[in-house]
Amino acid sequence: MSDSPTSKPMMLDLLKQYFGYDRFRPLQEEIISNVLEKQDSLVIMPTGGGKSLCYQLPALRLDGVTLVVSPLIALMKDQVDGLKAIGVKAEFLNSALTLGEMDRVRGQALRGELKILYVSPERFALAGFQTFLSHLNVSLVAVDEAHCISEWGHDFRPDYRQLGGLRRSMSDVPFIALTATATPRVRDDIVNQLGLNDPKRFVASFNRENLNYEVRSKRNAFRQLVEMLESRRGQSAIIYCYSRKETEEIAVDLDQLGFRARAYHAGMDAEARRRTQEGFISGEFPVVVATIAFGMGIDKPDVRLVVHHSMPKSLESYYQETGRAGRDGLPSDCVLLYSYGDKSRQEYFINRVENQLERQRLTDKLDEVVDFCQLQTCRRRYLLHYFGDESAPNGSMENNCQGCDVCSTPREEFDATVISKKIMSTIIRTGERFGITHVSNVLRGGRSQRIRELGHDVLSVHGIARDYSGDEIKEVANLLSAEGLIYRNNEEYPTLGVTDKGRRFLKERKQIFLSRPKTVEKPRRTKVDRHVEYDADLFEQLRELRLKIAREQGVPAFVVFGDASLRDMAAKAPKTLSEFSRISGVGALKLEQYGEQFLAEIRDFVSANPSRSSQNGLTRSINRNVRREGSTYAETRNLLAQGLSILQVAHQRGLAPGTITSHIEMMVSNGMNVDLSSSLPRKEDMGKIEAAIYQAGGPSARLSEVMELVGDEFSYDDVRIVRAHITQTNDAQNRV
Ligand code: ADP
Ligand code: ZN
Repeated sequence: MSDSPTSKPMMLDLLKQYFGYDRFRPLQEEIISNVLEKQDSLVIMPTGGGKSLCYQLPALRLDGVTLVVSPLIALMKDQVDGLKAIGVKAEFLNSALTLGEMDRVRGQALRGELKILYVSPERFALAGFQTFLSHLNVSLVAVDEAHCISEWGHDFRPDYRQLGGLRRSMSDVPFIALTATATPRVRDDIVNQLGLNDPKRFVASFNRENLNYEVRSKRNAFRQLVEMLESRRGQSAIIYCYSRKETEEIAVDLDQLGFRARAYHAGMDAEARRRTQEGFISGEFPVVVATIAFGMGIDKPDVRLVVHHSMPKSLESYYQETGRAGRDGLPSDCVLLYSYGDKSRQEYFINRVENQLERQRLTDKLDEVVDFCQLQTCRRRYLLHYFGDESAPNGSMENNCQGCDVCSTPREEFDATVISKKIMSTIIRTGERFGITHVSNVLRGGRSQRIRELGHDVLSVHGIARDYSGDEIKEVANLLSAEGLIYRNNEEYPTLGVTDKGRRFLKERKQIFLSRPKTVEKPRRTKVDRHVEYDADLFEQLRELRLKIAREQGVPAFVVFGDASLRDMAAKAPKTLSEFSRISGVGALKLEQYGEQFLAEIRDFVSANPSRSSQNGLTRSINRNVRREGSTYAETRNLLAQGLSILQVAHQRGLAPGTITSHIEMMVSNGMNVDLSSSLPRKEDMGKIEAAIYQAGGPSARLSEVMELVGDEFSYDDVRIVRAHITQTNDAQNRV
């Protein structure tokens, strides 16, 4: 029946009319149906999964008011502003309101004028509030951040216990509890504490497809930060540090470089914290350098970068902190700067914890983070398995998740026999009592006082690896540890020892090959970015308009439109209101309120840039990207024209060969002619690859299919280059 309240067309209409979206995200639709059928629900969905919609949309369908319990006072106002901006009658009740405001909101609620009312949990302890509730026509209760009710969770809030009796006193009202982090134990606890009535459980995948995970070794951390921020000027970023002092120093330094950065930590006074937080949300301070205290109250959808300047305490916190990136579903980066020294620093504090069990727990958690940092396999898959998410990407894309540094970094094997033996001998000769730093100093011939005092400068191994850097030695040591040839002893001072397997290796005359990331620069981006085909200049212009409107209305910028909507506009360049209404995130009210203003801006832009107003939006923007990056493509093209091969160009430019190949593909697909004469494989090999390409369906065939046909004999890059050659030759023939 098409007019039943839970029918799909009806729900899709509401989704478009109010929220401006065309499709539900995974599970949203099932959850909403369950709520509308007045059943209880327990929803476990990662940050950014779209939990709010699961109660906001039913609220519009149901007769009375939907109560939303949320622990974060700072967040409520933004949520309510956002709802008002799409035409939903919403208000909040918390201690931030004056008595007068409180009365006004209560009156509206009692008169049935509100669809959604946000309430902070401590309200429920007040006798007056219970009376108020008993007069309300409540149609749905949503408990957000529901893990706060459980002592087993990481964020227990005693106030949440006030909700215990609520379920009984509202026996006809459906409840929905939502959280992003819940182990099975916490899940059960939520159900028990809230007294949920045989709730249906919805557990979404924890895979955040739009996040790119990367671990880099921490070298010159500040420079690494600047590089990352430089390529993302004006975009929101959170940098997590270990100490308060560090957050302040880094924030000041970054601010002086013009990044508009602010610090945030629990030691600052409430007013300063509020300023940082509000400035971050409004976009005034795009960069926040924070201790982990920052984030719980942050519901900013367009954070493009989260950096861990120090190691997180556990994988749970890592997942949660990185989860603050890209809530709007757009590609975002999570970069962890890893150094073994940071680990010791944290251990120092852990060792001061009195309770032995707790100390052990913290150590174990930290070790798990170290394991994660040293992974040689897909980081995404590891995280997902860690959280028991068996929907982890598997098998697809040649086992490449396309969103972590391990998967997207070409690796190379190298003969590590000699250096491995040197490292292991030195560990043994110094008595297996030292950490990697000391061992490495001895290997490199250091003459520090300590080395002399210990007599390590007269050992036969002293100075036998002078041609290696400390980092290189550490890297090999990590690999040896991963191979089980040496082990770490995590005492107060971490020491290295050689395992039985390692001792056997030292005696035998076998070679050892280890795999390490290629030393050339990595291809900067992965899958996600290549699909972003929109006009970057138009996007910037629309962002400015958005900021102006947000300032005039005193709301955060994303309340006007999210980045996802602006990108959609910058890709489609709508000309009419009806075209504009099809932009993602444009509902009826925003169409009416902002449609003309944004259309005018887009029209201005198009008439000022007539070359971009071609019919085919896609080609236009790709061309645009080629032009933007013109210099880098042009440089590649020039070097190729001088007769250099791809490898030589890569070497000369300090880029990965794969990157050069991508340049070539980009230029060829845009009809540019590129000299491939020095880069093509030998003639008979060419023939084999060409045959495979045609057998798989021609130049537009999927690479993976061609690869299956050619087998191990050729690399991806070989196939890509031959394919580009075919495309280019075909184009030339078509032109004649
Ligand atoms: P969560 O509370 O689970 O972290 P939110 O409810 O804040 O996530 O939603 C995250 C973002 O996704 C918001 O910007 C929201 O507008 C957007 N969103 C939610 N549902 C959809 C949908 N069906 N289509 C497109 N965007 C959506
Ligand atoms: Zn991966």
